[in-house]
Amino acid sequence: MNAIIMYTFQLLNIKHGNTVLCCHVLFDLFEAVIEDSFLHQGKRKKLTALLRQKGISDSGVLNAIGSIPRHCFMDSAFSENAYEDKAFSIAEGQTISQPYTVAFQSQLLRIRRGEKVLEIGTGSGYQSAVLCFMGASVYSIERHRKLHDSAKVLLHKLNLKAHLIYGDGTLGLNKIAPFDKIVVTAGAPIVPDVLVKQLKIGGLLVIPVGNSKEQRMLQITRLGENETATIAYDGFAFVPLIGEHGWK
Ligand code: SAH
Repeated sequence: MNAIIMYTFQLLNIKHGNTVLCCHVLFDLFEAVIEDSFLHQGKRKKLTALLRQKGISDSGVLNAIGSIPRHCFMDSAFSENAYEDKAFSIAEGQTISQPYTVAFQSQLLRIRRGEKVLEIGTGSGYQSAVLCFMGASVYSIERHRKLHDSAKVLLHKLNLKAHLIYGDGTLGLNKIAPFDKIVVTAGAPIVPDVLVKQLKIGGLLVIPVGNSKEQRMLQITRLGENETATIAYDGFAFVPLIGEHGWK
């Protein structure tokens, strides 16, 4: 924490553990972390207008993307570009998905408040944050320890209560299943049957499936014990889903 902030806290007689709203900047007293300026807010508004133009109509999705500070989920070097409709690199050679992709997947999930949702590929934690904001009870699995750990810290700071799990998401999460919805945010070679089996009847699985360069987004409805219906959308490119039922 820098000296000016320390001095300000001293003048205000703020105690350890308090949270202070100071103009447009929210400081956590352990670290000055969450800074959300009017500029960021304005850029978010423009981003949601762009997503609407691109066909996103779910007001819950637009509201979440208009509220979650995406710049906090990426390297501060990209902070000024955080509200461009682009994917950016995060640690471990992974990416934070393009806002349109996050919005598209979230819209296909048709989230209703209180639904139990499993995400595979926590990455930065941004998609988890969007789903939490929409009122879902979110479980999210990540195979890189470092990404899992940093997403956990960040979501806690933002007061978003997702359950983050470290492990191979291609196995799903049997002990918490069945889920209302499952979303996979990495490109899969096939639809892992184990994930379909962890859906409630009537539940939805949204998963990009294809080769390493391009995938089709599948929206799979579990109609019965062994019956599904699938709708496919072209033109997505994700980092690979690696694991027992993914790429090796
Ligand atoms: N939803 C993320 C997108 C991250 S990119 C976001 O909003 O930022 C996809 C993520 O899937 C990467 O972090 C990658 O490490 C993770 N991943 C790939 N295979 C996985 C697996 N089998 N289990 C869990 N996570 C996996």
